[in-house]
Amino acid sequence: MNFRQVHLDFHTSEKIPGIGSRFSKEQFQSALKLGHVNSITVFSKCHHGWAYHPSEANEIHPGLDFDLLGAQIEAAHEIGVKTPVYLSAGLDEKMTRRHPEWLRRGKDDGINWNSPGYHEFCMNSPYLDYLIKQVEEVVRTYDCDGIFLDIVGVRMCWCQNCIKTLLDEGRDPYDDNNIRELGERIYRNYTTKIREAVDRIKPGLPVFHNSGHIRRGRRDLADVDTHLELESLPTGGWGYDHFPLSAAYSRTLGKDFLGMTGKFHTTWGEFGGYKHPNALRYEEALCVASGAKCSIGDQMHPDGYMDEVTYGLIGAAYAEVEEREPWLDGVTSVADIAILSEEAISNYYSTGKIVHHGGADSDAGAVRMMLEGKYLFDVIDTEEPLDKYKLLILPDHAKLDAYLTDKIRAFTAAGGKVLATGQSGLAIDSDKFALDFGCMYKGASAYQPVYFRPQFDLPCLGNTAYVIYSGAYDIEAADGADVPITRENPYFNRTTFHFSSHQHTPNDKSAAYPAAAVGADGAYISAELFTEYAKKGSLIPKLLVTHMIDVLLGEAKTLTTNLPAQGVVTLMDQTGESRLVNHLLYASPVRRGSGIEIIEDIIPLYDIDVTVKTDKQPKRVYLAPENRDIAYTYENGAVSYKVDKLDLHAMVVIDY
Ligand SMILES: [Zn+2]
Repeated sequence: MNFRQVHLDFHTSEKIPGIGSRFSKEQFQSALKLGHVNSITVFSKCHHGWAYHPSEANEIHPGLDFDLLGAQIEAAHEIGVKTPVYLSAGLDEKMTRRHPEWLRRGKDDGINWNSPGYHEFCMNSPYLDYLIKQVEEVVRTYDCDGIFLDIVGVRMCWCQNCIKTLLDEGRDPYDDNNIRELGERIYRNYTTKIREAVDRIKPGLPVFHNSGHIRRGRRDLADVDTHLELESLPTGGWGYDHFPLSAAYSRTLGKDFLGMTGKFHTTWGEFGGYKHPNALRYEEALCVASGAKCSIGDQMHPDGYMDEVTYGLIGAAYAEVEEREPWLDGVTSVADIAILSEEAISNYYSTGKIVHHGGADSDAGAVRMMLEGKYLFDVIDTEEPLDKYKLLILPDHAKLDAYLTDKIRAFTAAGGKVLATGQSGLAIDSDKFALDFGCMYKGASAYQPVYFRPQFDLPCLGNTAYVIYSGAYDIEAADGADVPITRENPYFNRTTFHFSSHQHTPNDKSAAYPAAAVGADGAYISAELFTEYAKKGSLIPKLLVTHMIDVLLGEAKTLTTNLPAQGVVTLMDQTGESRLVNHLLYASPVRRGSGIEIIEDIIPLYDIDVTVKTDKQPKRVYLAPENRDIAYTYENGAVSYKVDKLDLHAMVVIDY
C-alpha cells in the first residue's frame, strides 16, 4: 500500500453544470506532483448517485460529457500514481425518490426529508443488486487499484423488507435484538457478495468498506477488508485524541492501515477551507510514527480543476513523508503496555449483536495518559495475546469472565502485571475481584466526589488530599497489603438543604479508608480515573495512574525520555532492516472557535534525552532522513542518546 494517498471527494449535485470542464491531464498530473502524491482515490459514483464515466449500470452525471474517471486513471497511472476507485455504497440520492422502498428506515418509519442531506439505503433490498452491478462495471472497465465503498456498516433497519424478513422467519420485529442480528447478517451478506463480484473479475483486488471508525473488538468486521483506512479528521469531529487510539488498536490486527485526515479547516465538503501546513505536517508525522500510511481528504471543484493551494499544502507534508519512507515500512510497534479497550470489552460481551459505537471515554483517557506519560503501548481486544506485554491496563469498566480471568492469570503467572481501576477486575457475575489486588471490593461509594491522599509525593505537587470527581468504590485491604493511596470522604454529599460553599463539601479528615492496593496480580485504584481524565483533563488522575504504572513496570520500562507532556514518542522495530526507529514529535493543538482544535505554531525543542532498553547491540545511531550520526552510549542493556533539536518530528534510527 502506498504511503502518500489523497482521497479526492467529488460529491456533485446534478444542478451544477460543466462537470470536469476544466479537467486537463497535465494539470491533474502537475497537482499530484506538487502534492508528492503516489495514490489518489477517484470517483466512479458519488453520494448524489451519479457516475463520472459512461455507464450502463448507473447514469453518467447530467453535467458531464466525457469519461472523467478514465481520464483521471490514465493521467495518474502515466506518472506512477495508483488509483483506487470510490463508490458511494450507502448513499445514492438520485434513487431516493425513484425507489423509496429501498431506503433504510428508522424505528418510527421516518426519513429525514426536510433538510439538505443524503438518505441511506438498506442492503436488504434490491438496491444491493443495483450497487453490485456498478461495482462489477467499474472493476471490469477500468484499471483500478482497489475499491473503496463508503457509508456502510452494521445497521439497525425497520424498512418493510427487513420487517418482512423477520416475520417470514417467525421472529418478532418489536425485539431490537432481532433487528440487530438481522443487521449483522445483512452486512455480512453485502460484504460477501461484493467480494465475490470483485473476485470474479479481478481476484484479490483490494476492497475497503468505510464506516468511519474501526470498531475495537470486532475483528470479524475488519476481516472483510483487505486493509484498513482510519477516517479521523482532527478538526472534523474526531479530535486529536481519536487517531492515536484507533491506530494503537489497528496496528495489532496485522493488516496494512492508513490514517485519513483532511486538508480542510473543518471537515468533508468544505470548499475554500484550509488548515495550516504545520497541522498537516504534524498529522502525517503522527500517522507514520504510529505505524500507519497516510491519506489526506480533498474535494475537487466540479469543473475538475485541481486546487493548487491544496496540493501545495499537501506537498508540504508529503515531501517529508517521502524522504522518511525507507524507515517507515514493515514495522511493528515495541510496546510495554497493553490497554484492554473498553469498547472491545463492550463488543465482547454483546454476543455480537450490538452495534457499539461508544464506551470509549476510558480508552481515550488511557491513551492520553500513555502519550503524555511517554509509555510504549498498544490498545488491544480480548483476542490479542498478552505475552509480548509487561503490563495490562484494565480501564474503568473491564469486568472479567472465565476466559479473560484465565488468560490474565496466565499472563501474571508469567511475570506480567495488571493495573485496574473502577469496576475493572471484578468478575462479570459477582461483586468479587477475579484477580489478586490485595483488597476486597465492597461496592460503590456513598460519596461523590471523594478525596484521594497518596502515600507518596505526586510529582510537581507533593502530598495532600486531592479531589476525585468520578465514581469511587469502597474496598477493604487484605492484611499486610500495600495501600499506596488512602481516601477521605466529604462531610456530606451536596444536596438542596445540606451543602457547603460553591461546589462540593470539603474532606472530613477524621477518618481514612483504603483507595488503592497492590497484590500478587497487580494494583487496583478505586475510582474511574481514565474516564475522569478523558472528561476533565485534571492533572491528578494522570499523576496517580502514572505513579502506579511506574511502580508496576519498575526496571522493565523500555523507554525513558525528558520529552514534555505534549510530545509523542513511539518505538518501531523494522526487523527486515535490523533497526529500531524512535519517533519523537512535538506540536501543541489549541482550541480556537468552538470545538475545533488547530495547530499553527511549531516550537522547536532542544536536547531531548532518550534511553532505550534493548538486548540488541547497537551498531550505529543516527538521525533520519538527515543521515547524521549522533553520539550514544550502550551500557547495561540500554542505549542512550540526545536529540539536539526536535523540530516537529525527529527520527532516531538504531541499527542493530
Ligand atoms: Zn432494511
